[in-house]
Amino acid sequence: MNALELHSICKSYGSQRALENISLSVPTGSRTVIVGPSGSGKTTLLRMIAGFEFPDSGSLALNGQMLVDGTREVPAHQRLIGYVPQDGALFPHMTVAANIGFGLAAKGVARQERIAELMDSVALDSSMANRWPHELSGGQQQRVALARALAQQPRLMLLDEPFSALDTGLRAAMRKLVARLLADAGVTTILVTHDQSEALSFADQLAVMRQGRLVQSGHPLDLYRYPADEQTALFLGDAVVMPARIEAGWAHCDLGRIPVNNHRNNRSAQIMLRPEQLQLISAPNGLAQQDGCRGVVTECDFGGNTCTLTVELQTLSADERPGRSLLVRSSGMHAPPAGSEVHVSIIGHAHVLSEP
Ligand code: ADP
Ligand code: MG
Repeated sequence: MNALELHSICKSYGSQRALENISLSVPTGSRTVIVGPSGSGKTTLLRMIAGFEFPDSGSLALNGQMLVDGTREVPAHQRLIGYVPQDGALFPHMTVAANIGFGLAAKGVARQERIAELMDSVALDSSMANRWPHELSGGQQQRVALARALAQQPRLMLLDEPFSALDTGLRAAMRKLVARLLADAGVTTILVTHDQSEALSFADQLAVMRQGRLVQSGHPLDLYRYPADEQTALFLGDAVVMPARIEAGWAHCDLGRIPVNNHRNNRSAQIMLRPEQLQLISAPNGLAQQDGCRGVVTECDFGGNTCTLTVELQTLSADERPGRSLLVRSSGMHAPPAGSEVHVSIIGHAHVLSEP
């Protein structure tokens, strides 16, 4: 069953189109991530779901209840939707405990117990209850904002770039903690981010936005492997994109002959491979020619457990183009040094991209 159903949502600010015909279903209990570059409409969409913005047209339903359509607009405070805005927005003149307890109806001991429980659930030490927001780190403030939203026992939780202010190590730890917390509480969640690795790791369902449009949605692995177009491919990670001629299930390109995952024949198209699909084998001069293609490592960017190599292909075709450069990932320990002659072979299929 779907918790949230968005249908053909449109929103403009003057001549600026912020959202264009957005339709999306969010399954109950899932973690949906909306990802897209800055200005693509992510915050506008979240604010609309929360009830702080209203669409020009389209409808929005939660657990079968219509929240917005042509005739009705349920106000934000009646939606039972938790919203943690981009900056966390704690009340600066209230302590941690008062922030978390803001919307709680309970009084006295029951209230204190509930606040302690909520602090515990977001891994905040009880000694912080009487601190002021400015006495907390970014990560602690985010957890207070989350606890405050959880206190409402929302039917849906909306998180707008919740980890963007945190440094890399803490961000990954917080992401895991929040994912586990929301899973334990069984709360359907929509998280917005412009960080592709965060999106891929947090999502059950990923929705990619660009310029107010929903470009593609689905399981993160499917979007990573089968992006709709080149921009989406590059937004979700490094990619090798090159022209090819598609024929009988094969792409013929500068890398030789590669099997493809769709079979539209006899046409020119762009194909995509992820760098981890390229495998290098040391190929000193004179080694017998195999399938695939030869190249020279021109750069070796050592990154610990993985190395990113730039490989210039020795194009075999008759035309005089300079060799194409590719990014290839290799395990750091076994990466061939710059200057090495290599043989490039392909793991798996190439993905044929749609026309732009
Ligand atoms: P994102 O969160 O993806 O960075 P936003 O939803 O904040 O993007 O903004 C989408 C577009 O809508 C931007 O071009 C932004 O300038 C515009 N926009 C958002 N809110 C308003 C507003 N209240 N008034 C005018 N334009 C707005
Ligand atoms: Mg935003």
